[in-house]
Amino acid sequence: LVSIRGLCKSFGDIEVLHDVDLDIHHGEVVVVVGPSGSGKSTLCRCVNRLEQIDSGTITLDGEPLPAEGKRLAQLRADVGMVFQSFNLFAHRTILDNVTLGPVKVRGMPVREAETEARRLLDRVGVGDQAGKLPAELSGGQQQRVAIARALAMSPKLVLFDEPTSALDPEMVHEVLDVMTSLAADGTTMVVVTHEMGFARKAANRVVFMSDGRIAEQGTPEEFFDRTSTERARDFLSKVL
Ligand code: ATP
Ligand code: MG
Repeated sequence: LVSIRGLCKSFGDIEVLHDVDLDIHHGEVVVVVGPSGSGKSTLCRCVNRLEQIDSGTITLDGEPLPAEGKRLAQLRADVGMVFQSFNLFAHRTILDNVTLGPVKVRGMPVREAETEARRLLDRVGVGDQAGKLPAELSGGQQQRVAIARALAMSPKLVLFDEPTSALDPEMVHEVLDVMTSLAADGTTMVVVTHEMGFARKAANRVVFMSDGRIAEQGTPEEFFDRTSTERARDFLSKVL
């Protein structure tokens, strides 16, 4: 589905991604872990072109990522993103937050978008909150709305960048439960997280980044039980 080859990305003089190669297949759940500053967020942001890349290629369904215009908006719809800070539209209702994208970008009739939005809000367990404003919801509820909003675009894949890091501990599990259910249903997902329990349970593949490189990758069993690099062992000793 996504193929990344020789990706390099610098900010000024600092190269934060060095020659990254990564494939993401249909239906796959790839969990990206690694120390702070290792380039996990930058990698995600390159995949939906929130960042320009310096060299290398990224293709989606065999096509290079579009640089601008209508096709870029289409790409952002095809590649959903869920951030640490939920980024909901503060002055719009929960229902509007979920329907705006499909109506504006996909050209979906409002009625149809609302029906679909209500179905998705039910699915993530906040169907009864549709008429409220984001500030009236808990963090965990807002993040589940953000997930529903991403799904409303019928994306080919969804990128999650530390979706539970800003949440109070008691709300983390309700968001992880929704993500686990999406994973089980075959949603293609790339998840940056420090939740190793989720990685072990839901990942098809764990990718360990260190200093802007993919230092190690494998199945959860390979990564957690037969860690092959010193760096990954050192990382795991700190987070587990
Ligand atoms: P964390 O776990 O803390 O979220 P990360 O692995 O997501 O870390 P990135 O956010 O991708 O790391 O950052 C990688 C490096 O790039 C860091 O050194 C960071 O300071 C730098 N960086 C990221 N974004 C920018 C930017 N817009 N301008 C300059 N430097 C940046
Ligand atoms: Mg990050």
